[in-house]
Amino acid sequence: MHLKSIELQGFKSFANKINFEFDEGITGIVGPNGSGKSNIADAVRWVLGAQSAKQLRGSKMEDVIFAGTENRRPVSYSQVDITIDNHDRRMAIDYLEVTISRRVYRSGESEFYINKSACRLKDIHELFLDTGVGKEGYSIIGQGQIDKILSTKPEDRRNLFDEAAGIVKFKHRKSDAYKK
Ligand code: ATP
Ligand code: MG
Repeated sequence: MHLKSIELQGFKSFANKINFEFDEGITGIVGPNGSGKSNIADAVRWVLGAQSAKQLRGSKMEDVIFAGTENRRPVSYSQVDITIDNHDRRMAIDYLEVTISRRVYRSGESEFYINKSACRLKDIHELFLDTGVGKEGYSIIGQGQIDKILSTKPEDRRNLFDEAAGIVKFKHRKSDAYKK
Protein backbone atom coordinates (compact mmCIF):
# COMPACT_ATOMS: atom_id res chain seq x y z
CA MET A 1 0.00 0.00 0.00
CA HIS A 2 1.55 3.31 -0.99
CA LEU A 3 0.56 6.79 -2.00
CA LYS A 4 0.67 7.06 -5.81
CA SER A 5 -0.51 10.57 -6.44
CA ILE A 6 -2.08 13.70 -5.01
CA GLU A 7 -4.13 16.02 -7.20
CA LEU A 8 -5.01 19.46 -5.90
CA GLN A 9 -7.39 21.99 -7.38
CA GLY A 10 -8.07 25.27 -5.64
CA PHE A 11 -6.58 23.92 -2.40
CA LYS A 12 -4.83 26.66 -0.36
CA SER A 13 -2.03 28.15 -2.48
CA PHE A 14 -2.70 25.77 -5.42
CA ALA A 15 -5.18 27.66 -7.62
CA ASN A 16 -4.57 25.56 -10.73
CA LYS A 17 -5.04 21.84 -10.95
CA ILE A 18 -1.74 20.17 -10.11
CA ASN A 19 -0.79 16.52 -9.87
CA PHE A 20 2.07 15.09 -7.79
CA GLU A 21 3.14 11.53 -8.60
CA PHE A 22 5.03 9.42 -6.06
CA ASP A 23 7.10 6.30 -6.57
CA GLU A 24 7.65 3.71 -3.88
CA GLY A 25 10.44 4.68 -1.50
CA ILE A 26 11.30 8.11 -0.18
CA THR A 27 10.26 11.36 -1.81
CA GLY A 28 11.52 14.70 -0.58
CA ILE A 29 9.64 17.92 -1.26
CA VAL A 30 11.87 20.99 -1.30
CA GLY A 31 11.14 24.64 -1.97
CA PRO A 32 11.49 28.14 -0.57
CA ASN A 33 9.60 29.21 2.57
CA GLY A 34 5.93 29.77 1.86
CA SER A 35 6.00 27.89 -1.45
CA GLY A 36 3.36 25.35 -0.34
CA LYS A 37 5.25 22.30 0.95
CA SER A 38 3.22 22.01 4.16
CA ASN A 39 0.03 22.74 2.21
CA ILE A 40 0.57 19.41 0.42
CA ALA A 41 0.63 17.54 3.75
CA ASP A 42 -2.46 19.52 4.84
CA ALA A 43 -4.19 18.35 1.64
CA VAL A 44 -3.61 14.71 2.59
CA ARG A 45 -4.94 15.29 6.12
CA TRP A 46 -7.92 17.11 4.71
CA VAL A 47 -8.93 14.49 2.14
CA LEU A 48 -8.68 11.83 4.86
CA GLY A 49 -11.30 13.72 6.82
CA ALA A 50 -9.64 16.36 8.99
CA GLN A 51 -12.53 18.32 10.46
CA SER A 52 -10.85 21.05 12.42
CA ALA A 53 -9.45 24.10 10.66
CA LYS A 54 -6.74 24.32 13.29
CA GLN A 55 -5.41 20.90 12.26
CA LEU A 56 -4.99 22.43 8.81
CA ARG A 57 -3.31 25.60 10.11
CA GLY A 58 -6.33 27.75 9.34
CA SER A 59 -9.00 29.46 11.42
CA LYS A 60 -12.07 28.34 9.46
CA MET A 61 -12.73 25.52 6.99
CA GLU A 62 -13.06 28.00 4.12
CA ASP A 63 -9.34 28.72 4.52
CA VAL A 64 -8.58 25.56 2.52
CA ILE A 65 -10.06 27.23 -0.60
CA PHE A 66 -7.67 29.35 -2.69
CA ALA A 67 -8.33 32.88 -1.49
CA GLY A 68 -6.91 34.75 -4.49
CA THR A 69 -3.85 36.94 -4.90
CA GLU A 70 -3.20 40.37 -6.42
CA ASN A 71 -3.39 38.95 -9.94
CA ARG A 72 -5.68 36.02 -9.46
CA ARG A 73 -9.31 35.82 -8.41
CA PRO A 74 -10.38 33.47 -5.60
CA VAL A 75 -11.87 30.14 -6.65
CA SER A 76 -15.26 28.79 -5.58
CA TYR A 77 -14.30 25.33 -4.42
CA SER A 78 -11.39 23.19 -3.37
CA GLN A 79 -10.84 19.58 -4.36
CA VAL A 80 -8.18 17.05 -3.40
CA ASP A 81 -7.86 13.53 -4.83
CA ILE A 82 -5.35 11.03 -3.51
CA THR A 83 -4.70 7.72 -5.20
CA ILE A 84 -3.39 4.81 -3.16
CA ASP A 85 -1.98 1.56 -4.51
CA ASN A 86 -3.85 -1.39 -2.97
CA HIS A 87 -2.06 -4.35 -4.60
CA ASP A 88 -1.37 -5.79 -1.15
CA ARG A 89 -5.11 -5.51 -0.28
CA ARG A 90 -4.42 -3.74 2.99
CA MET A 91 -7.59 -1.80 2.34
CA ALA A 92 -10.68 -3.99 2.49
CA ILE A 93 -12.01 -3.01 -0.94
CA ASP A 94 -11.94 -4.92 -4.21
CA TYR A 95 -9.80 -2.46 -6.17
CA LEU A 96 -6.07 -2.44 -6.84
CA GLU A 97 -6.08 1.33 -6.85
CA VAL A 98 -8.26 3.53 -4.67
CA THR A 99 -8.90 7.22 -5.19
CA ILE A 100 -10.25 9.21 -2.25
CA SER A 101 -11.65 12.65 -3.04
CA ARG A 102 -13.03 15.54 -1.09
CA ARG A 103 -14.56 18.74 -2.37
CA VAL A 104 -15.78 21.74 -0.42
CA TYR A 105 -17.61 24.87 -1.55
CA ARG A 106 -17.57 28.22 0.21
CA SER A 107 -21.01 27.39 1.63
CA GLY A 108 -19.22 24.80 3.79
CA GLU A 109 -20.58 21.32 3.03
CA SER A 110 -17.91 18.74 2.18
CA GLU A 111 -18.45 15.95 -0.33
CA PHE A 112 -16.46 12.73 -0.10
CA TYR A 113 -15.88 10.11 -2.79
CA ILE A 114 -14.28 6.67 -3.01
CA ASN A 115 -13.33 5.86 -6.61
CA LYS A 116 -15.64 8.66 -7.80
CA SER A 117 -18.71 7.32 -5.96
CA ALA A 118 -20.13 9.65 -3.34
CA CYS A 119 -19.71 8.28 0.17
CA ARG A 120 -19.82 9.30 3.82
CA LEU A 121 -16.77 10.34 5.80
CA LYS A 122 -17.49 7.25 7.91
CA ASP A 123 -16.85 5.02 4.84
CA ILE A 124 -13.43 6.58 4.37
CA HIS A 125 -12.71 6.15 8.04
CA GLU A 126 -13.66 2.46 7.87
CA LEU A 127 -11.62 1.87 4.73
CA PHE A 128 -8.46 2.90 6.54
CA LEU A 129 -9.08 1.15 9.88
CA ASP A 130 -5.96 -0.75 10.98
CA THR A 131 -3.84 0.61 8.14
CA GLY A 132 -2.25 3.48 10.09
CA VAL A 133 -3.66 5.85 7.47
CA GLY A 134 -6.41 8.27 8.38
CA LYS A 135 -6.82 11.60 10.03
CA GLU A 136 -5.83 10.14 13.39
CA GLY A 137 -3.41 7.60 11.91
CA TYR A 138 0.32 7.61 12.39
CA SER A 139 1.12 7.74 8.68
CA ILE A 140 1.39 11.50 8.93
CA ILE A 141 3.69 12.58 11.73
CA GLY A 142 3.33 16.31 12.10
CA GLN A 143 5.38 18.79 14.03
CA GLY A 144 5.13 18.17 17.79
CA GLN A 145 3.32 14.85 17.36
CA ILE A 146 6.10 12.67 18.75
CA ASP A 147 6.08 14.74 21.95
CA LYS A 148 2.32 14.41 22.11
CA ILE A 149 2.48 10.62 21.75
CA LEU A 150 5.10 10.37 24.48
CA SER A 151 3.25 12.56 26.93
CA THR A 152 -0.25 11.23 26.29
CA LYS A 153 -2.28 9.05 28.68
CA PRO A 154 -1.46 5.31 28.48
CA GLU A 155 -5.05 4.51 27.33
CA ASP A 156 -4.69 6.92 24.40
CA ARG A 157 -1.28 5.58 23.54
CA ARG A 158 -2.80 2.12 23.50
CA ASN A 159 -4.97 3.16 20.51
CA LEU A 160 -1.82 3.62 18.47
CA PHE A 161 -0.67 0.09 19.24
CA ASP A 162 -4.15 -1.33 18.54
CA GLU A 163 -4.09 0.32 15.11
CA ALA A 164 -0.61 -1.04 14.36
CA ALA A 165 -1.65 -4.52 15.54
CA GLY A 166 -4.71 -4.42 13.27
CA ILE A 167 -7.36 -5.03 15.92
CA VAL A 168 -9.30 -1.76 15.80
CA LYS A 169 -11.89 -3.13 13.39
CA PHE A 170 -12.63 -6.02 15.75
CA LYS A 171 -13.05 -3.61 18.65
CA HIS A 172 -15.46 -1.57 16.53
CA ARG A 173 -17.45 -4.67 15.59
CA LYS A 174 -17.60 -5.74 19.22
CA SER A 175 -18.94 -2.41 20.39
CA ASP A 176 -21.47 -2.39 17.49
CA ALA A 177 -22.62 -5.87 18.50
CA TYR A 178 -23.21 -4.76 22.11
CA LYS A 179 -25.33 -1.85 20.86
CA LYS A 180 -27.69 -4.18 18.91
P1 ATP B 1 7.97 26.76 5.12
O1 ATP B 1 9.23 26.36 4.42
O2 ATP B 1 8.06 28.11 5.72
O3 ATP B 1 7.44 25.71 6.07
P2 ATP B 1 5.97 25.92 3.16
O4 ATP B 1 6.57 25.61 1.81
O5 ATP B 1 5.63 24.78 4.04
O6 ATP B 1 6.89 26.98 3.94
P3 ATP B 1 3.19 26.50 3.25
O7 ATP B 1 2.94 26.76 4.69
O8 ATP B 1 2.78 25.20 2.69
O9 ATP B 1 4.70 26.82 2.89
O10 ATP B 1 2.45 27.60 2.36
C1 ATP B 1 2.11 28.84 2.88
C2 ATP B 1 1.57 29.70 1.74
O11 ATP B 1 0.30 29.23 1.35
C3 ATP B 1 1.43 31.13 2.20
O12 ATP B 1 2.05 31.97 1.22
C4 ATP B 1 -0.06 31.36 2.20
O13 ATP B 1 -0.40 32.65 1.79
C5 ATP B 1 -0.54 30.36 1.16
N1 ATP B 1 -1.93 30.00 1.41
C6 ATP B 1 -2.45 29.30 2.46
N2 ATP B 1 -3.79 29.21 2.37
C7 ATP B 1 -4.13 29.87 1.23
C8 ATP B 1 -5.38 30.14 0.58
N3 ATP B 1 -6.54 29.72 1.08
N4 ATP B 1 -5.34 30.85 -0.56
C9 ATP B 1 -4.18 31.29 -1.08
N5 ATP B 1 -2.98 31.06 -0.53
C10 ATP B 1 -2.95 30.38 0.61
MG1 MG C 1 6.15 24.26 6.02
